[in-house]
Amino acid sequence: MQGEEKQYETVIGLEVHVELSTKTKIFCGCSTRFGAPPNTQTCPVCTGMPGSLPVLNRQVVEYALALGLALHCEVNRYCRFDRKNYFYPDNPQNYQISQLYLPVCYDGEVEIALAGEQEEKREGNGNGAPAGAAGTGRKKKIRIHELHMEEDAGKLVHEENGDCSLVDYNRSGVPLIEIVSEPDMRNAEEAIAYLEKLCMLCRYLGISDGKLQEGSLRADVNLSVREAGSGTLGTRTEMKNLNSFRAVSRAVAEERRRQIALLKEGKKVVQETRRWDDTKGGSYPIRSKEDAEDYRYFPEPDVPPVVISREWTDEIRSRLPEFKEEKEERYQKEFGLSAYDAGVLTQSRHLAELFEKTAVLCGNPKKAANWFMGEVLRLLKERGREPEELWFSPEHLAALIKAAEQGKINQANAQKVFAEIVERDVEPLSYMKEQGLETLSDEGALRLAAEEVLAGNPGLVAEFRAGKEKVFGFFVGQVMKKTKGMADPGKVNELLRQLLGKTE
Ligand code: ADP
Ligand code: MG
Ligand code: ZN
Repeated sequence: MQGEEKQYETVIGLEVHVELSTKTKIFCGCSTRFGAPPNTQTCPVCTGMPGSLPVLNRQVVEYALALGLALHCEVNRYCRFDRKNYFYPDNPQNYQISQLYLPVCYDGEVEIALAGEQEEKREGNGNGAPAGAAGTGRKKKIRIHELHMEEDAGKLVHEENGDCSLVDYNRSGVPLIEIVSEPDMRNAEEAIAYLEKLCMLCRYLGISDGKLQEGSLRADVNLSVREAGSGTLGTRTEMKNLNSFRAVSRAVAEERRRQIALLKEGKKVVQETRRWDDTKGGSYPIRSKEDAEDYRYFPEPDVPPVVISREWTDEIRSRLPEFKEEKEERYQKEFGLSAYDAGVLTQSRHLAELFEKTAVLCGNPKKAANWFMGEVLRLLKERGREPEELWFSPEHLAALIKAAEQGKINQANAQKVFAEIVERDVEPLSYMKEQGLETLSDEGALRLAAEEVLAGNPGLVAEFRAGKEKVFGFFVGQVMKKTKGMADPGKVNELLRQLLGKTE
């Protein structure tokens, strides 16, 4: 990356659409559930029938406010919707109800975590360890220009061998929040860290699945380049159809290259919207950038303005959850976890809460963390499940951890019981008993087994007494074998030492 390319700086601003997980659509009572047969979740409102009237879903405003507050935004006390007029078959009303003049929230900022100095060089490596998980990284603030509510459009389905397109209006009217950043990002790593942060906030707030891959979060990348040190912004393009962090990273690299090449040839960058093709690894223009006047925006006459009182805002603020960074810090301070473990355990709010309850109940946070970092994550990975799908009672895992710590069950069997807890939320103590998984800790039975082993190996006992410490392991092994591996190894050790020492 030395030489000529160095003299150009990349400037990135993101427009992110978050699909909200409300039960019903933004202006009607139709379900938002994904995957229903085409056009089964529609009504006169969301198909734009003349004479139908929209009614605003209160939950959408509350979700927008929650995200806006989490992004440290100002709230518009008087917020209003506007009509964005455009003609396209995915939009049966011929306009989209959105917000242009008085968005619900504005002027915020969000802190993103970036890798340390060395890793930073690998520009655009989107996957790998969670950013900042090691706690050694850089932080950067990205300003939020605004956040507004709007409705989604329907979905066009292009028949593969037909000469027609079909349209499914189930998605028409599904609530969206659009978050518009200032052009504060300088490379793909920052853009990805910003997106990850938004995903995480949405999931912690429970307002969206927040998944780029599944389309519940869609990112448009605005990118321009300028000579390093220049105080003015270059002409930007807007890139659409970025369905993964990897696609964002590749698109940023490619668009930067394309714009720099144009400038070097003495040509101009055209302000336009481009579509990224991830299989081809390139983009093509889909339309020249339209200005607001092209849409003939005007205040939406059918939806009354929303007055957002201070009390309402305060109430929503008071319900905000403890977010990842705060949890991470607290786990290190309160539980003595490493920055890495704290980072991993707080990837999901649900996982963090399960861990925390288990830690408190079993009284040994570090042990609990080991179980989560090891067994819980391994099982999830093995079964291809999300942390959100865990539903066991922390009481049960805590009881198992305690039993293992007290030597009531060996590690291998504890893992078996754990799998049952995750699968069926079994009560571990009774399950252990029922399945005969408890270690043999009954003094009498163990003593008998130990005595038998020693009596059967007089030669080795003599060797041991003569100082050959090594054979002790053999005795332990024999007792374990006699008890079919069910003996508590700690107890066996103790007993053998006792017996071998006694006759000395
Ligand atoms: P529009 O109103 O045409 O959509 P905005 O000014 O609202 O344009 O900007 C849209 C997005 O593009 C914002 O995220 C903003 O940060 C970003 N952006 C604006 N100008 C530039 C630029 N020159 N380079 C990179 N990003 C830009
Ligand atoms: Mg825009
Ligand atoms: Zn409807």
